[in-house]
Amino acid sequence: MATHTTSDELFQRAGAVVPGAVNSPVRAFGAVGGTPPFMASGNGPYLTDVDGNTYVDLICSWGPLILGHAHTAVVEALTEAASKGTSYGAPTPGEVELAEEIAARTPVERVRLVNSGTEATMSAIRLARGATGRSKVVKFAGNYHGHVDALLAAAGSGVATFALPDSPGVTGASAADTLVLPYNDIEAVERAFAESGDEIACVIAEACPANMGIVPPKDGFNARLKEITAKHGALLVLDEVLTGFRVSRSGWFGLEGVTPDLMTFGKVMGGGLPAAAFGGRADLMEQLAPAGPVYQAGTLSGNPLATAAGLATLRNATPEVYAHIDRVSAQVAEAAGKELSAAGVPHRIQHGGNLFTVFFTEDEVTDFDGARAQNTAAFAAFFHAMLDQGVYLPPAAFEAWFFSAAHDDTAIDRVVSALPKAARAAA
Ligand code: PLP
Repeated sequence: MATHTTSDELFQRAGAVVPGAVNSPVRAFGAVGGTPPFMASGNGPYLTDVDGNTYVDLICSWGPLILGHAHTAVVEALTEAASKGTSYGAPTPGEVELAEEIAARTPVERVRLVNSGTEATMSAIRLARGATGRSKVVKFAGNYHGHVDALLAAAGSGVATFALPDSPGVTGASAADTLVLPYNDIEAVERAFAESGDEIACVIAEACPANMGIVPPKDGFNARLKEITAKHGALLVLDEVLTGFRVSRSGWFGLEGVTPDLMTFGKVMGGGLPAAAFGGRADLMEQLAPAGPVYQAGTLSGNPLATAAGLATLRNATPEVYAHIDRVSAQVAEAAGKELSAAGVPHRIQHGGNLFTVFFTEDEVTDFDGARAQNTAAFAAFFHAMLDQGVYLPPAAFEAWFFSAAHDDTAIDRVVSALPKAARAAA
């Protein structure tokens, strides 16, 4: 029987100095009960905690680690970069190369590097407002864009997990300019634009929502968003922080091909270090300081360690890597569906490229209400049974399962053989 004595001690210590004992809410086990293991190291598809237990990691740092933990190319790039200094506060070649990599894979013409997905969406919204001279922002319920004040309204991710529709501290004034619409409801978007189209700066949407679980856009939804925004002189911002460079070499754009005005990226492009970006049409992006009047800045933006890790990751994420992840993800999804059916557990598996979510409901999930209708108690039982067998799933029912190039047959077998017991636990 695995012990968690050291983790439990650390959790107690952390609770005395860190709010809720974690530095990001989704890491806590608030939604599933219990306390999280504290991790000591990662290697390929595995995480090892401070008590020496190993887990097949199906979180991959919530997306970034598409090559797995401690990939040789990333470690070497980081070691070399660190030996030359950790930050210069001046331009570096790595920033140019990373921006070029992003521009080569996506429709963006200009890229600005930042440190987190939150910064990317916050800055994209500011630019959209600055460029249009308008205030209102349309977002969709269950779409999560980081903890930007104006976007913390009916958000997914940890906000969905903890059932906070909003956050104290977000002022009425910042929320007042946010219109929250049901996801996948194009008529609601048309109505909003008919009523206040000339006040709307932009529509922001996850290119394929993953933060209320995977809820793909209906056929033509993103394309219609582009048409409607263009017709009304507003901008479309597609958030690919989670899907970018993960669901394909070119992210969701590579699968669907809708070109928005602005895009946001993060996670994979930093290879496990803090790096994110926003980009888009040259005429819009050139309105950013110092070229233009819309202010945006960052002491550590384009940090040389982050660009080194990001470049090593993107350059080693070959077509074979995506083919492998597509294959193992499909294999685990199929096995999960089979075992849950055998145990008589109502469920529905929804895919967004190589990401998927096991919803504990039979109904198709097309929006936030549908996602919230699932049986989260069944998920919690399933989660703990997987954890006890050494498989680390996201500790919330509103998340995707993440795989990497390092998830080989041995790791996948461990996941698949843990499923029958977990499915029975959820019944
Ligand atoms: N946008 C999306 C789609 C995300 O999934 C996330 C984080 O999960 C963010 C933005 C915020 O990114 P960060 O946590 O790096 O601030």
